[in-house]
Amino acid sequence: MNGVVTPRVFSFEFFPPKTPEGVEKLRHTQRQLAQLNPAFFSVTYGAGGTTQDRTLETVVDIQREGHAAAPHLSCIGATRESLRRVLEQYRSHGIRHLVALRGDLPSGTLGGGEFRYARDLVRFVREETGDHFYIEVAAYPEVHPQARSAQEGIRHFREKAEAGANAAITQYFYNPDAYFSFVDDCRAAGIEIPIVPGVMPIANFSQLSRFSEACGAEIPRWIRQKMQGYGDDSAAIKAFGLEVVTQLCDQLLTGGAPGLHFYTMNNAGLTSVIWERLHLS
Ligand code: FAD
Repeated sequence: MNGVVTPRVFSFEFFPPKTPEGVEKLRHTQRQLAQLNPAFFSVTYGAGGTTQDRTLETVVDIQREGHAAAPHLSCIGATRESLRRVLEQYRSHGIRHLVALRGDLPSGTLGGGEFRYARDLVRFVREETGDHFYIEVAAYPEVHPQARSAQEGIRHFREKAEAGANAAITQYFYNPDAYFSFVDDCRAAGIEIPIVPGVMPIANFSQLSRFSEACGAEIPRWIRQKMQGYGDDSAAIKAFGLEVVTQLCDQLLTGGAPGLHFYTMNNAGLTSVIWERLHLS
């Protein structure tokens, strides 16, 4: 121990709203969550550039309110020229923080871009803009669905760190051991960057189940069984979800996680309750 305490990093993720009502609602959410004083808000980016303008508008809106914002940027289907333009736009708005991803094109869509993996995007951003951006990448404690093994996933994650990523945010998970074991394996593989757990509060269980299947996040059997037993009782689902996720966050922070990144789904409610219960303010 050298006595130096690194501050923990807390952040909140939004998606760019589609309608004027959505924009208003997000502003309200953001103002509520801003009171918790997060390090930054991040804003997702539709693969293939489908939300390019809305991501930028949302990020600029957040900055206008005086808060740090990090746009996500995905490279699948993109060309060097198109990404150069996006990076230039971000730079011209004073943005210095990015979440760099590969992205997933909807099935049936052809890729046809000049980038294959997030590693290539991180390299490109560094080649084009040097150290201008603080770059986050994605990490998968429960293994990305397309990785052939956990070890292969870690090798690919290391390539992103070697390409110049500063930190990582994980896919969500509900088993803290998956995170701690993943971090141990990463450290053993020489990956030194902070790995911040991504946290998904549980709002709608059937939606969460469908989504988890697609992204390779596991819902432990005991949680699934209990949730299914609640049927349509949304108050019971919400109460149990809050209990499970608060306990997960508590275990992660107690075990040394360097912060938490909340997938808010543009709602402040559940995240704020978890925050209060963790006494983070
Ligand atoms: P990569 O790191 O490129 O990995 C993708 C797959 O390819 C992995 O299975 C990896 O093991 C494999 N791989 C990597 N390198 C190689 C190689 N050299 N050879 C062979 N295989 C390799 N998606 C969006 O569209 N927009 C968003 O805003 C967005 N935000 C996200 C935020 C977070 C925190 C997370 C965790 C995910 C987010 N996603 C987003 C989803 C993400 O795009 C998908 O999970 C996608 O499938 C993988 O992206 P990646 O950046 O991890 O890809």
